[in-house]
Amino acid sequence: MHRFQTTAVHAGREDFGQLCVHAPPLDLSTTYPINDLDVAGASFDALIGGQHAAANPIYARLHNPTVARAEDAIAKLEGTEACVAYASGMAALTAVLLARRAHGGHVLVVRPLYGTSDHLLASGMCGLEAEFVTAAEIASHLRADTALVVIETPANPTLDLVDIRAVVAAAGSVPVLVDSTFATPVLQQPALLGATYVLHSATKFLGGHGDVIAGVVCCSDADAAPLRTVRAATGGLLHPLAAYLLHRGLPTLKLRVEAAQANAQVLARRLADHPAVSKVFYPGLAQGAAAQLLASQMRGPGCLMAFEVKGGHAAAAKVMAAVKVMTAAVSLGSVDTLIQHPAGLTHRMVDPAAKAASGITDGLLRLSVGIEDAEDLWDDLLQALA
Ligand SMILES: *Cc1c(COP(=O)(O)O)cnc(C)c1O
Repeated sequence: MHRFQTTAVHAGREDFGQLCVHAPPLDLSTTYPINDLDVAGASFDALIGGQHAAANPIYARLHNPTVARAEDAIAKLEGTEACVAYASGMAALTAVLLARRAHGGHVLVVRPLYGTSDHLLASGMCGLEAEFVTAAEIASHLRADTALVVIETPANPTLDLVDIRAVVAAAGSVPVLVDSTFATPVLQQPALLGATYVLHSATKFLGGHGDVIAGVVCCSDADAAPLRTVRAATGGLLHPLAAYLLHRGLPTLKLRVEAAQANAQVLARRLADHPAVSKVFYPGLAQGAAAQLLASQMRGPGCLMAFEVKGGHAAAAKVMAAVKVMTAAVSLGSVDTLIQHPAGLTHRMVDPAAKAASGITDGLLRLSVGIEDAEDLWDDLLQALA
């Protein structure tokens, strides 16, 4: 077992010497030749039943070797037995909800969370009734038919931290899903703290270059099997070319996160002192209990922050229009810096009262800091805020 950075470079590439290749083979097959009908039948049963691999992949909705390589690599980084990859983060969350539906019709959710995750859960379209609670209310709101607890930490967009160990303890035998997209396994490994499912929008830091949409769920082998069955049945699978790009991003994941985090720490401190800014949301600026939680469950405050400009929507729109080095765009976790307006974009569909309760005001901007030079980013913010 190697250390994180060595694993990041070599995971999913262990057989390269034997294959005599130096880049992952990209298998774009949709179907696979059948040499023996009985072997094929057994493979079909195994894959539809949720096994990771079989003697014959049969059909690309059931298995793809390029996707499986990326999955193996991500599982190693999260410290889980398995990883199941999907076409997007939302497809990944949908698969978990559909898989848990067999265990009950109720899900407890802690806000805030990614706007579309909030929308998917609140709509009940996967057949689960979502009840929104605080982390402290989980234990008292568990029901006999509670099938899942969903949290996101750090949360989108206010960077609230939720105590993973405490939520796992409160949930008892009910599995906990942690959306760990903002943290990446570089900064936090929720499965090692007791989470059953670790979800990533791999579109963000794992891919890291703004050119792949993907989602993953990391969990035990036993919990992965129903997730693979859902994927095979509903078809939300990751394309092998996307898996190739995702896998290619992993060796530099830690370097990217650490470089962007160093920039974020500089920008957060300076923004907190800027006269046009009324509030900065960044775990690295937290005091007291929040600072203790950061130290106990994360290895750093991360690359995302939100800040509130004085003057509400109009002032926020001006800043977005004025940035030159940064790109005004949704999404996050890319090598370049992105700035967006949660109330008007990513969290548009969230219930207005819930938005207000979560601190998602009209002046709030979210910054996903990239790996540019920090001084150029600061100069850009200074001119945009002026
Ligand atoms: C982007 C995002 C998602 C959704 O992922 P997609 O890949 O866009 O489907 C879910 N959770 C968080 C925290 C995100 O940032």
